[in-house]
Amino acid sequence: MKRAQVLPASDPESIRLAAEIIRSGGLVAFPTETVYGLGANALDSEAVAKIFEAKQRPSFDPLIVHIATRASLDLLAQKTGAVDRRLMDAFWPGPLTIVLPKRDNVPDIVTAGLSTIAIRMPAHPVAQALILNAGVPIAAPSANPFCYVSPTCAQHVLDGLGDRVDLILDGGSCPIGVESTIVSVSESSLELLRPGSVTLAELRDIMGTSVRAAAGTTIVAPGQLPRHYATKTPVTILRAPGARPAIQARERAGLLAMSAPGQENEMFCAIEVLSSSGDLREIARNLFAALRRLDSLGLDRLYAEPCDEQGLGLAIMDRLRRCAVHTQ
Ligand code: AMP
Ligand code: MG
Repeated sequence: MKRAQVLPASDPESIRLAAEIIRSGGLVAFPTETVYGLGANALDSEAVAKIFEAKQRPSFDPLIVHIATRASLDLLAQKTGAVDRRLMDAFWPGPLTIVLPKRDNVPDIVTAGLSTIAIRMPAHPVAQALILNAGVPIAAPSANPFCYVSPTCAQHVLDGLGDRVDLILDGGSCPIGVESTIVSVSESSLELLRPGSVTLAELRDIMGTSVRAAAGTTIVAPGQLPRHYATKTPVTILRAPGARPAIQARERAGLLAMSAPGQENEMFCAIEVLSSSGDLREIARNLFAALRRLDSLGLDRLYAEPCDEQGLGLAIMDRLRRCAVHTQ
């Protein structure tokens, strides 16, 4: 069985090798500011097929394509409107993915047959260096088996896909920790397809008031499956921070606490505190690593405290809910 090489992203030689692997149709996992991506040449349908195979991702779930310069947009998107460009000026490079009409030369497998393509320009220096060196746009979903928790460090990628990628660029922990915000522009209004680290308030600042959050808690977008980002251990979201869960007799339970928990700690076998001060950025950064640690303990159930759905809290609760679907 093949085992991925893990190389330090700080070494230019690692980037050179990674770029060569991308150009020759292989798979490279690399850090971005959100989570680690599993990358392939977006214009090579066979290479992209390897992403779906490695992740066991269903072919109806489209990928985000990563670029390093605006010039590469012309290869991928038919046109951009004034609103798209305003968003790019404000948030690129950064954690905002924009859905645009696709060009015919983008293989259908990338977009799951849709006539649109999701594009992002990551800000992480390693992601930028890799895309520039490869000289091609890179299609990259999160580098984890389909439906599992996204990876925020090289070890997470190795744990989940170590025998399915050619190379992992180790660039340390991802500074943001939750996936990009996805938006699509129609008739100069904006629809939020997936909440992420660019917040609704930040989008509204740029757009005025015309940002529509997708209704309810289910975000309607192709591939936005209700159950996603899920641990093997069932997750129940508590009514409020500090709420006492109805733990079953002999149930071995873990607690995912948003901030330093108060009393009742003795009922849990393990507790992960995401941020002692309840800071949303710190919570987002630690969320997936903490879920993975709790998941590795073989407990019967994890109880997760909710946070306010303001700002980054919207993305954090979206991920927690997808993790908890069908297990409550
Ligand atoms: P991942 O890269 O695993 O975070 O997932 C990327 C997500 O982007 C998919 O699950 C889709 O929901 C979304 N996406 C990708 N392409 C499109 C598109 N053309 N239109 C709408 N959403 C998209
Ligand atoms: Mg994913």
